[in-house]
Amino acid sequence: MLLNTFTENIDGLVKELMAARHDIHKHPELGFEETRTQAKIRSWLIDRGYQPFVSAKTGLVADLFPERYGETRTIALRADMDCLPMQEDTPLPYRSVHDGRAHKCGHDGHTAILLGVADILATHKASIPGNVRLVFQPDEEGQHGGGAPVMVKEGVLQSVDEIYGLHNWPAWPMGEVRVKAGPLMAHVVLISLKVVGKGGHGSQPQVTRDPIVAASHMVTGLQTVVSRGLGFEGGAVVSICQFHGGNAHNVIPETVQLGGTIRTFSEEVTRRVLDRVEEIARGVEVMFGVRVELQIQRGYPVLRNHDECVAAVRRVAEHIDEIRKVSEADLPMAGGEDFAYFTQTIPGAYFFLGAGHAGQENPGCHHPDFDFEDQLIPLGLKMMVGIVIDRLTP
Ligand SMILES: [Zn+2]
Ligand SMILES: [Zn+2]
Repeated sequence: MLLNTFTENIDGLVKELMAARHDIHKHPELGFEETRTQAKIRSWLIDRGYQPFVSAKTGLVADLFPERYGETRTIALRADMDCLPMQEDTPLPYRSVHDGRAHKCGHDGHTAILLGVADILATHKASIPGNVRLVFQPDEEGQHGGGAPVMVKEGVLQSVDEIYGLHNWPAWPMGEVRVKAGPLMAHVVLISLKVVGKGGHGSQPQVTRDPIVAASHMVTGLQTVVSRGLGFEGGAVVSICQFHGGNAHNVIPETVQLGGTIRTFSEEVTRRVLDRVEEIARGVEVMFGVRVELQIQRGYPVLRNHDECVAAVRRVAEHIDEIRKVSEADLPMAGGEDFAYFTQTIPGAYFFLGAGHAGQENPGCHHPDFDFEDQLIPLGLKMMVGIVIDRLTP
């Protein structure tokens, strides 16, 4: 089966998908609050003959052939739906109408691509030799722990053979697919540190246990976790991103609060890094006569791509005219992604679509000026439909 027979004459559909994308962009919703987005997806799917069901509160799942459930191979395709808690001040005609909420990661575009896939598969239903499960997933940004683990728990992957997902990436050139087998994105660990000292007058440090100085040494010490704690291969990021303490120019505070993130790609390195963080915390306690309360919270696991599924992504990409290059450059990356819970459970692959244009600014995901590149809609469509055909054709 040739991909071209499925994706010819899609100009009208692409226009409709752009309009749908702009509408979702204008009405962004945070994780597990995607009720308007869910309603829009639901009516689109019902119009095309699907019988969608709810999973993870605001997510939706639909099978192309629910009657063949469990009897044929099933390929799942996933799109994330949620926005970020950010302000949008762009001049876009479809800019967010909600203060403090904006689609600054392009999940509006990912959703539009999967809506397009739903349309094409429904049109060519008779030619699809197996089942396809469309998975619209809430809360990828993890406002409440991520939608993927909830969907896995609710059985969304039952009787599914493989799962695929994609993300736009403006830092990489338009027309480039990037994918890699094995670890692709990082395990995320959140660390919170409370340095408890003894406050007092800013002019009398001798009777205090200054938590500002202690916390400063803590931050400096943590810079050695990677540089001195790991060898040349590295494989971790440790970033302290919050430092809160004091509220007067002449008062040494009682406490300082620090927050940060650790990114790793193997459990061995994670343990090594966490051991060093613990040792530095205990060392700072002794050095400055303070108490350091350390809290570790494990987030998304490592996203691991399966060899055979990556080979399929590469194969499909190489047969699409608009895709000029398939590469592994800059991978793995230290971002986190809850798609990891899916490929932890069944085989699958996650890949990136470059969205950058040469010679111009390309604001990245999570940047205030970011907007999803609409030219990726037909590309994403072709990739996803191509994967379905590749993986279901015997
Ligand atoms: Zn994001
Ligand atoms: Zn994203």
